[in-house]
Amino acid sequence: EQRVHHLLEKQRVERPEAIALRDHDGVEYSYEALAHAVDWMSMDLAARGLRAGDRLLVVAENCAAQVGLVLAASQLDAIAVPVNARMTEHELHRIANHADPRLSVYLGNVSGPARTHAEIGDAVHWDTPLGALLISPEVRQALPEPVRDDAKQIAVLLYTTGTTGTPKGVMLSHGNLLYGGKTSALMRGLVPEDLILGVLPMTHVFGLASMCVGGLAAGSTLWLMPRFSASAVIDALEAGVTVLPAVPQIHASIMAEASRRGLDHAPGGYIRYVSSGAAPLDPEWKRMAEAFYGIALQNGYGMTETSAGVTLTTNPIGVPDVSVGRALPNVELRLGSVGEDGVGEVLTRGPHVTPGYFRNEQATQEAFDADGFLRTGDLGRLDDAGNLHIAGRSRELIIRGGFNVYPPEVEAALNDHPKVVQTAVIGRTTEGGNEEVLAFCQVARESDVTEADLLEHVVDRLSPYKRPSRIVIATELPAAPTGKILKNKLLGVFADRL
Ligand code: ATP
Ligand code: MG
Repeated sequence: EQRVHHLLEKQRVERPEAIALRDHDGVEYSYEALAHAVDWMSMDLAARGLRAGDRLLVVAENCAAQVGLVLAASQLDAIAVPVNARMTEHELHRIANHADPRLSVYLGNVSGPARTHAEIGDAVHWDTPLGALLISPEVRQALPEPVRDDAKQIAVLLYTTGTTGTPKGVMLSHGNLLYGGKTSALMRGLVPEDLILGVLPMTHVFGLASMCVGGLAAGSTLWLMPRFSASAVIDALEAGVTVLPAVPQIHASIMAEASRRGLDHAPGGYIRYVSSGAAPLDPEWKRMAEAFYGIALQNGYGMTETSAGVTLTTNPIGVPDVSVGRALPNVELRLGSVGEDGVGEVLTRGPHVTPGYFRNEQATQEAFDADGFLRTGDLGRLDDAGNLHIAGRSRELIIRGGFNVYPPEVEAALNDHPKVVQTAVIGRTTEGGNEEVLAFCQVARESDVTEADLLEHVVDRLSPYKRPSRIVIATELPAAPTGKILKNKLLGVFADRL
């Protein structure tokens, strides 16, 4: 296959009757029905002016029409730009301005926020085989990007989470997505009988490449949930979900909900593969999750720029492994400028790596080293078995009195406290030019734990230079739609508490 929609065409021939998607409202689409709908959508989009190289903005929360639109864009050699409807108007506007789409589609039948965005634009009603949507009239001023004639053709633009600043538009080629999807299917052993729970947003690379394209490659069923709800996930486990990819925060809320319901094991007994990625996995959460699901929890490391995965663990249950595993097949992995502690910047090259940032030549050039390796901006260490250990982002590294403090280590020490749900640690420059360690701990609403309790808790876990000078206790931390904590917002949100 050269293009993402070729995966769908293959399944249409091989298993037309099998269920490709279960939509948010329970409606199921067979591979034949989905392929038919995608044909319909691409013809209609072409009639509305969408051409090869044009961008198609898809403002949505997880649903079948969103997946259909990505595949329809693929048929037209257009570039889908799936964005999360729960963004603010300002955020969406910024992305739309940068992506410069010919057409914008709003999935207002699934998402109230998408409908609101459509109302701000001048979208009109659009009836499709995958539901009633809203579509903007064609914009003519934009010149399409040049189209190249192989797997290097760009399939999607995905905007990064924006953890470290403004979201960047990452171009992912058909080759990137096919690699990401097929490798995910291979590593997870996906089969047509699998029911994958699509609870991660398909606007993020983890959902789109690993789950959606991975499921298409394997001929599995993808169950699309527009919003994460721990309670709905537990019900879905009971209803037959076999594969559950999520992020640490999602696993943590699933377990919190399970304990509220008095469940000590995942219901249903169908689950056979669970993974976590996108953010550091706390060892305690991993242990609890494995006890709950009754199977191993695999930890994967990757980013938007690498079509999801770079590494993934393949451990049996119960291994207290805090690494993110070994490089995926055909992925080159090395460390740049390693310090005395064995830690260096994670560099990677291979079929998973983006050709660059959309309309940002400078950021693209800065992102690659002389050998064409992507600078991930993450710090890591390789152990003797070739497993990668992530030590945090290089720009979040705290240098205190000449010593390196890695935020994930401090976060793990605090997360270890029974009352702490999750922690984010950042550095703040002090007057003398030194850096201090600040911690933000999320606790349950009813918790009475104090800053002094937590400072006391880390004393025998962290050497003095690693201990936070302040610990802010809150019931909520600023987070992205994946549940990932937005560290760059912490100082602003908690300004009055510091
Ligand atoms: P931005 O690039 O806009 O600042 P972001 O980097 O958070 O946002 P993503 O592409 O969603 O956007 O996230 C990738 C980053 O998430 C990685 O660079 C890494 O820092 C972190 N990450 C991903 N997986 C893991 C993991 N398993 N363990 C620890 N950190 C991880
Ligand atoms: Mg990033």
